[in-house]
Amino acid sequence: MLRFKPVTVEKLVCTCDRCGRAMEQDSNDREWQERLIVSFRAGYGSIFGDGNFVEGDFCQECIKTVLGKWLRITDDNPFDSQHKPLNDADKIYQSYQFKEVIKTRNQMNQITGLMKGLGERDEMRKTLAERLGVAEDQVATIAFSHLLQATEPKSQS
Ligand SMILES: [Zn+2]
Repeated sequence: MLRFKPVTVEKLVCTCDRCGRAMEQDSNDREWQERLIVSFRAGYGSIFGDGNFVEGDFCQECIKTVLGKWLRITDDNPFDSQHKPLNDADKIYQSYQFKEVIKTRNQMNQITGLMKGLGERDEMRKTLAERLGVAEDQVATIAFSHLLQATEPKSQS
């Protein structure tokens, strides 16, 4: 016998701190990907208070309503970008945070490349396998192990 069984589904939702709009991660409305996240530690001399942490999640409508008048919007193709940003900030990251984001993205891309074994990564994997004296399919596991050790948080003593 076929029947429908009720299930509970949990969805990740970000709520705009200004208007309360719910932005669901898996929704087709694209609000999740267009949200802006403010997250930074205030520096010396900040109007938010020296060393305080400042956070906020905002929908695109609120960003446009509050900041739209002063935003510079340039017509551009993301797949063949001709636009050169005036600075290296990404969304509302501060520059030191942006550098960490880029560093992490690069590490993730390298790990993904090692796992997929594409193009130049194939050559890197072969070279590493020869140097380590192991089979090529073991290189990713060894690389992960070394990355875990290298990025282990230092104990504070
Ligand atoms: Zn909003």
